[in-house]
Amino acid sequence: MKEITRRQFIQGLAAGAAGIGLSRVFHGLVPEAEAASDSAPEKAPASSSDFTLTVLGARGSSPVCRGDSMAFGGSTSCYMLRAGGETIFLDAGSGLLSAPAEYPKPPVFLLSHLHVDHILGLGMYSWLSKKEAETTIYVPAEDGDALQALDGLYSPPYWPLSLTAYGSTVQVLPHGFPLQIGEITVDGMKGCHPGGVWCFRIRFRGKTLVYASDFEHEEPYFSELIEFSRGADLILYDAQYTAEEYETKKGFGHSTAEKGLELLERSEAGQLLLIHHDPFLTDRQLLDREAQIGRDNVRFAREGEVISLSCTENDAVKETIAGNVKTYSRLNDGTWQCDDYIYQYRLEISGRMPNAAKDSTFVYLSNIEEISFEQAYRAAGISSDLNDYFAPEEAVLVEMN
Ligand SMILES: [Zn+2]
Ligand SMILES: [Zn+2]
Repeated sequence: MKEITRRQFIQGLAAGAAGIGLSRVFHGLVPEAEAASDSAPEKAPASSSDFTLTVLGARGSSPVCRGDSMAFGGSTSCYMLRAGGETIFLDAGSGLLSAPAEYPKPPVFLLSHLHVDHILGLGMYSWLSKKEAETTIYVPAEDGDALQALDGLYSPPYWPLSLTAYGSTVQVLPHGFPLQIGEITVDGMKGCHPGGVWCFRIRFRGKTLVYASDFEHEEPYFSELIEFSRGADLILYDAQYTAEEYETKKGFGHSTAEKGLELLERSEAGQLLLIHHDPFLTDRQLLDREAQIGRDNVRFAREGEVISLSCTENDAVKETIAGNVKTYSRLNDGTWQCDDYIYQYRLEISGRMPNAAKDSTFVYLSNIEEISFEQAYRAAGISSDLNDYFAPEEAVLVEMN
């Protein structure tokens, strides 16, 4: 592979995050040719049905910059979601410095909590300085004074100015669930962590992602998280410690890969991305832990990787049935599709037609709960009266025996 600089690598990530035909998971370096130029504006996701997660920072507690940890990266918690033209950042750790320079729509931040490793990137986030830019930041703030929550760090003597004094329009709002951001729906659940934390369940066109960072697996929180994550396509889960390390770190507010696996299984979710890597963990150790788990759908997050949960038409079709009248498909959500119409029911209607020697069966996809045998055979082409036929949105004949 061609030698590339870290800067080019990050630019490549931004290009990937912008959705340049990326529907695969990639990890590692992006070839130079794919890297975006400094001035290239961000493009909207390739397709409006793309739902991508870009890991901008997966390190926990503190950023690190050591040669032995660069494969997984040293930037702290920041994950960028793009779907339906929206951009949502889950936390704003130092990984935010690799965020794109432009957005199709103003970005929205969901902060799980205000520990410094989760808000460290905001101070140098250049978007906030753009005059015409708009940003909304949702923060945990019980009393409604959301801005004050961030000013705890972003005000003198800790920082020269408040985030609202950067020149752009910044709205800081308290969490309120469910939250609707364009077509994206976000639900929240309180987790177990010193000072509190929010977990998020994010849905877009039938795909679901759960974010549970800085989460200690105490009861009843862990059981609640299992329900909260039920059937998710992807779970991001805090795995800062091994089960053995955890024994001496109880109450620190973090969990283990073992509990992550239990969560994955019990919630019947699709994939597990382990996050919030301990700052002292090396690439070698993380690779070893990953190999020990040895499962395709479980990984430790790598800074820069993009995971696509695209809900393309092909993805939504679970099974296509080549019927003897029309080809139709069963969709993941249990409905049926034929031509451009979606139907609630698949009805098999059997009976004997007048003067027939044996029974006939008609299969209709239908939005009508019940179709009588007489209706079924008349609408199958026997009747000369147009009133006997269904409108295409009502029902369609797909099989006949
Ligand atoms: Zn943290
Ligand atoms: Zn924390």
